[in-house]
Amino acid sequence: MTVILDGKATAETIRREVAARVAALVGGGARPPGLAVVLVGDDPASKVYVGSKIKACEEVGMVSRPVILPSATDADTLRRAIDDLNEDDTIDGFLVQLPLPDHLQGREMVSRVAPEKDVDGFHAVNVGQLWLGEGGFAPATPSGIVELLKRYEIPISGARAVIVGRSNIVGKPMAALLLQENATVTVCHSRTRDLPAVCREADILVAAIGRAAMITADMVREGAAVIDVGTNRVSDRAEVERLYPGNERRMETFERRGSILVGDVDFTRVKVRAGAISPVPGGVGPLTVAMLLVNTLEASRRRQSLPPFE
Ligand code: NDP
Repeated sequence: MTVILDGKATAETIRREVAARVAALVGGGARPPGLAVVLVGDDPASKVYVGSKIKACEEVGMVSRPVILPSATDADTLRRAIDDLNEDDTIDGFLVQLPLPDHLQGREMVSRVAPEKDVDGFHAVNVGQLWLGEGGFAPATPSGIVELLKRYEIPISGARAVIVGRSNIVGKPMAALLLQENATVTVCHSRTRDLPAVCREADILVAAIGRAAMITADMVREGAAVIDVGTNRVSDRAEVERLYPGNERRMETFERRGSILVGDVDFTRVKVRAGAISPVPGGVGPLTVAMLLVNTLEASRRRQSLPPFE
């Protein structure tokens, strides 16, 4: 029986744990953790992400501060907004929502965030600390995946892990985190030779590619744990019917919205071979916001010099 790795339920549990810790901090006289999110412009997807981060933050009793700037904002104004948040004592963590409009340099702005407030874990200092095992902030998506594997008691130590995708926000930090958990890690990308054969070696297969249903059943070892990070919109009816034959719920969503969200894994067919698999939606996505809250709580604990949580 294949285990469905329920990221939504796991994320809810994590949020409840964070809320309890925030309540304990505040009850003990500490300041509530504060998270700011900087959004430049009106990219619809970014607006949705920022909205969900702010809402999640408020639900666990943290202080939230959306900083919304128009798309024509110049680099100096954005630099000043970042500097202000770096200086603001009530803000423990913040992030600049990417992508930024073309005239602004995302990498430069991320590097301007003080590393101790960089709860996205994208600053070079945190990237370095992650690889050194020195406890910086790790990016939320791969941290959420490790949490998911642990909470479902999927053995990581000694396991053969294969990650498809080498981006700075998912693939690379995923490799660092799994290595830290004593997995034997292989990172694949668009130049990897015989990708199916490499994937078949995996006890844990993480797909972070951005191509709908690219990981097919023949690429998966019987019993492997398959983690699907991909979020792809599929609007071709024949493709939806091929990917989810006889799945009325999926077809109903397609009829209503004109498209459905599909991961990088051919869920219907891979599920038959895998020992465990995360669905899309409801897998990795919800964990990303939950882990941002975990990082913000930790940033606040450190900044207020409070003892580690038990
Ligand atoms: P990027 O586009 O930055 O990276 C994609 C990676 O996939 C690259 O390393 C690329 O290789 C590799 N790749 C592309 N095509 C192939 C191929 N044919 N064979 C092997 N490797 C290939 O994507 P991200 O890491 O930012 O995101 C990946 C997916 O995860 C996207 O669908 C994104 O929407 C989703 N995502 C979901 C999140 C969530 O919270 N659920 C959070 C972040 C991302 P190369 O380097 O050689 O070009």
